[in-house]
Amino acid sequence: MIEDKNKSLTSISELGEFGLINHLTKNFKIQHKSTIKGVGDDAAVLNITKKQILVTTDLLIEGVHFDLSYMPLKHLGYKAVMVNLSDVYAMNGDATQITVSIAVSNRFSLEALEELYEGIHLACKSYGIDLVGGDTTSSTKGLLISITAIGEVKKEDVVYRNTAKESDLLVVTGDLGAAYLGLQVLEREKQVFEVNPNSQPDLTNYSYLIERQLKPEARKDIVKLLKDLDVKPTAMIDISDGLSSEILHICTQSKVGCDLYEEKIPLDPQVISTCEEFDLNSTTIALSGGEDYELLFTISQKDFLKIKANPHLTVIGHITEENMGVNLVTRANQKIKLTAQGWNALKGD
Ligand code: ADP
Ligand code: MG
Repeated sequence: MIEDKNKSLTSISELGEFGLINHLTKNFKIQHKSTIKGVGDDAAVLNITKKQILVTTDLLIEGVHFDLSYMPLKHLGYKAVMVNLSDVYAMNGDATQITVSIAVSNRFSLEALEELYEGIHLACKSYGIDLVGGDTTSSTKGLLISITAIGEVKKEDVVYRNTAKESDLLVVTGDLGAAYLGLQVLEREKQVFEVNPNSQPDLTNYSYLIERQLKPEARKDIVKLLKDLDVKPTAMIDISDGLSSEILHICTQSKVGCDLYEEKIPLDPQVISTCEEFDLNSTTIALSGGEDYELLFTISQKDFLKIKANPHLTVIGHITEENMGVNLVTRANQKIKLTAQGWNALKGD
């Protein structure tokens, strides 16, 4: 659908750069008082006073970060925004504005870019974000999207990665591993389709996995939940690369160790059944899968009762002193050193 073969599709060169920008951004409404000037001048003007400002950027490249043969452009636009908002929420802040820069080859039609911006628009509407600018340029091949998110946080609310303390509890939101498995399912279907284009995939058993891969949600709700529960995490990070790698970031930067309990890692039933089907170890998938966009944080033990039994939050371990190392405690009660790839037992596989 993205190939510009069809005569009814509009070539982006027909609109010119300004026509294109205007066309793509005209439906976006400004929602924040802090946005003084959005799209349309040389620079956006923001008026964020009193609070601290959060700025984060991600660059997504076709063929490296996404594959358009199973990633619909609308979903790509939505996900590209989520990836950035997730970083703002991981600072315990509120995301307010984004800029969107794209580089496109002439293989993309206006209709294709409209789809991309529909996804961006939906994300902005659902999360209360103003699109305030960007850049549009051509690429020789493929699509590049770079989004910058801007957010705000009260000085006393900001949470860093490097402030976890010994004896803190390690907490994760939602469940893990589903997005990675969704990608595996989509890749398998793509291969089946390439062999037999008439095949009709039945994806009902994988609906949650595919949703997690194609339409992830950043955990804005958790920032609010923690405020409502009157819990300020001692350290926090979002899970983009897999649980293992994020725990190591918190521990290395905080100069602490950690015991993570295998049996506590939250898994959706579809993750468990699909791991069995694909002959994968579900713990490995949760540790190394990535793209979950859940939040991982540490809290002081005194806050345990406030979060206990909350369906969104699972205590999966605790912080130890640095020289104890970062370990996975298996169901068989063995301690295995965690590595960014998962755990040592799998090294060299
Ligand atoms: P300049 O030549 O000063 O870089 P541009 O012509 O690139 O300005 O952009 C004009 C306006 O449109 C600016 O406000 C810019 O932020 C905005 N803009 C450009 N490209 C995009 C895009 N892809 N998405 C949203 N806004 C954009
Ligand atoms: Mg420009």
